[in-house]
Amino acid sequence: MQDRTESDSRKLLRRLKDILAAAGGGQDRLDEITHHIADSMGTEVCSIYLFRDADTLELSATEGLRPEAVHQTRLRLGEGLVGRVARTGRHVNTANAPSQPGFRFMPETGEEVFPAFLGVPIQRVGERLGVLVVQCATARQFSDDEVYGLEVVAMVLAEMTELGAFQGSQSDSLPLAHRFPLMLRGATGQEGAAEGHVWLHEPRVVIANPVGDDPDKEHARLHEGVETLRLTVDKMVAAADMGGDGEHAAVLETYRMFAHSRSWLKRMEEDIRLGLSAEAAVEKEQSAARARLEMAADPYLRDRLHDLDDLSNRLLRILTGQGSDTGAEMPSDPILVARNIGPAELLEYGRRLKGVVLEEGSVGSHAAIVARALAIPLVIHAARITSEALNGDAILVDGDQGVVHLRPEESVAKAFQDKIAMQAEAQDRYASLRSLPATGTCGTTIQLYMNAGLMADLPSLEGSGAEGVGLFRTELQFLIRSHVPRRAELAGLYARVMDNAQGKPVIFRTLDIGSDKVLPYMKPQDEPNPAMGWRAIRVGLDKRGVLRMQLQALIRASVGRPLHVMFPFIADITEYEAAHRILMQEMAREQRLGHAMPSDIRVGAMLETPSMAFAPKRFFEMCDFISIGGNDLKQFFFAADRENERVRRRYDTLNVSFLSLLRLIIARCDEARVPLSFCGEDAGRPVEALVFAALGIRRLSMRPASIGPVKHLIRRVDIAGLRQVIDQAEAEGLTSLRGPVTAWLARQ
Ligand code: PEP
Ligand code: MG
Repeated sequence: MQDRTESDSRKLLRRLKDILAAAGGGQDRLDEITHHIADSMGTEVCSIYLFRDADTLELSATEGLRPEAVHQTRLRLGEGLVGRVARTGRHVNTANAPSQPGFRFMPETGEEVFPAFLGVPIQRVGERLGVLVVQCATARQFSDDEVYGLEVVAMVLAEMTELGAFQGSQSDSLPLAHRFPLMLRGATGQEGAAEGHVWLHEPRVVIANPVGDDPDKEHARLHEGVETLRLTVDKMVAAADMGGDGEHAAVLETYRMFAHSRSWLKRMEEDIRLGLSAEAAVEKEQSAARARLEMAADPYLRDRLHDLDDLSNRLLRILTGQGSDTGAEMPSDPILVARNIGPAELLEYGRRLKGVVLEEGSVGSHAAIVARALAIPLVIHAARITSEALNGDAILVDGDQGVVHLRPEESVAKAFQDKIAMQAEAQDRYASLRSLPATGTCGTTIQLYMNAGLMADLPSLEGSGAEGVGLFRTELQFLIRSHVPRRAELAGLYARVMDNAQGKPVIFRTLDIGSDKVLPYMKPQDEPNPAMGWRAIRVGLDKRGVLRMQLQALIRASVGRPLHVMFPFIADITEYEAAHRILMQEMAREQRLGHAMPSDIRVGAMLETPSMAFAPKRFFEMCDFISIGGNDLKQFFFAADRENERVRRRYDTLNVSFLSLLRLIIARCDEARVPLSFCGEDAGRPVEALVFAALGIRRLSMRPASIGPVKHLIRRVDIAGLRQVIDQAEAEGLTSLRGPVTAWLARQ
């Protein structure tokens, strides 16, 4: 086996190809394959373990181990050496298997006489299919060439699995890729439940022929493909240079470096020499990079591996001629599945989508914002979804729990349908409250406003029964464009927003960019801590041209209507004073130019940093209104990143310390007689909303879907009575009000 040559490898791959081409059952093929591999590698044993379900590997064929063990021996993912290979996506090579940590003895196989063990993953771009193992009676380490050779063989097996070569083996006990039900746990991007069928944003590339007959030809194909790839990337870099965006060009430059990487090309050439086709070689290296990506913690390394993954995808499409359009038809109830998606692309799909599942993404990502505006359930961080899901697969999206059921069992689907029906029923109930006020049984009325940011949100103003838009996030319209919108374009947009609001107030918040909201055409700032960095009003005051342009557009859009302007992320009174001054200058300028003016102007601030609770009284007196941005306020109060799943839920909004801060803000606003609202996500959570109301906040702004549930609860509760419960709990020194409040609500 030591002097195994290229031609051995190619001969073996050709045999595999013949097996694939010949008629025959799946089990026969597997048996034949293990026989040929053992023969070619000169090992006593060759075994193939395939996934029986997402967590269980099953010995599916063997040459050399006891035949009775086939379809009997099973291992959990991570169990034994085979399970370890499957979990990590990396090979295990040892001269003495029993001495390895985690080794599991499987007496039924008779493997104890074969101490030398080499296991490689059978995987396809991040999708784990099984493990290929060879074993020897002589205790020896396998050479690097042997490891490499076996990985090449495993690559062909992965493609054969994908092509369905092993279907129909051993009645139905053998696992079939993409067939078994799978539950994936991700995170909530947007609440709601949806049932439908998978629509892949980027369809998978199918490799019909993993084995190359003529290495010279495959070599030439690879080089041609890489050349085309390099030209495309060079063009991208040139375009970025023309755009004068230095930073963007720098990012692309590293991308180009990869496209020109000698070592990447060399590895693929080596794969071809051993018998793979050009596209299979690309995919083999892509799989290896994906496996490393899953293990890498260093963000820089992860970015680079992402680049490589991206380039591999492009190269695969060039080599196979498979573009994004495969001619497949979108199902009537599409659930979009993607690694990630841009906001503009998501808007293009629009309300046709029943749900969205992303492998990456984040709660504050633009895709999440658009999904929220469109009220489409969204699950993010659903690991492996793009490699597991096939177009047309049945899929359930549970946005409330952040869970996805792919190809669900009937009982799961049934329970899910019940959940959807119940949610629809609740929506009907809320619809009947639409024109009623949110008045508690004590007679206190709370104004319910909605948050918006896109034209797509506006129809909800009517449907939800909101009294106006309490927060219009103007940055969203900047985020979904590929260029800075012009003043006239913006004025037109804002006018349409006001037209649609039909006289209901709309509070326009000036641009809150930076932090997680990075404009595609803005230089990335590369800040160590963007949430506390150059964002929102800080950018506005430093780049006054953009702020002035936006204010002019708002003034021009108002013509004869009242205008509400709110400045975001004010952390110091001087920032508010400066922004206020600029607005007044713009008003004067517009008037001088003879433009029609707003009938009235109200100017306010978002209170999103604890510092402003302690601002000079003058600040409160200067504001026509104030709105608490609870998402940021809470993040800075507890020093817990709102984007970080690990810490996000750690601190409760009903924590007494946080509520004390709210009380202080309420008292200061009362003192200055300035109207106060709350517009963070917590305003849309019924129990939290009720507590804010009991503390004295009279206006809440939330996403449209929350208005029904919040109003439903408020109308059934004595808000003044709840205040007593809160005061008492605080007097008793409790740290959280959640317990006493929910207990009191249950008693009501
Ligand atoms: C907030 O911080 O609570 C808020 C409403 O603003 P955003 O979520 O846009 O930061
Ligand atoms: Mg904020």
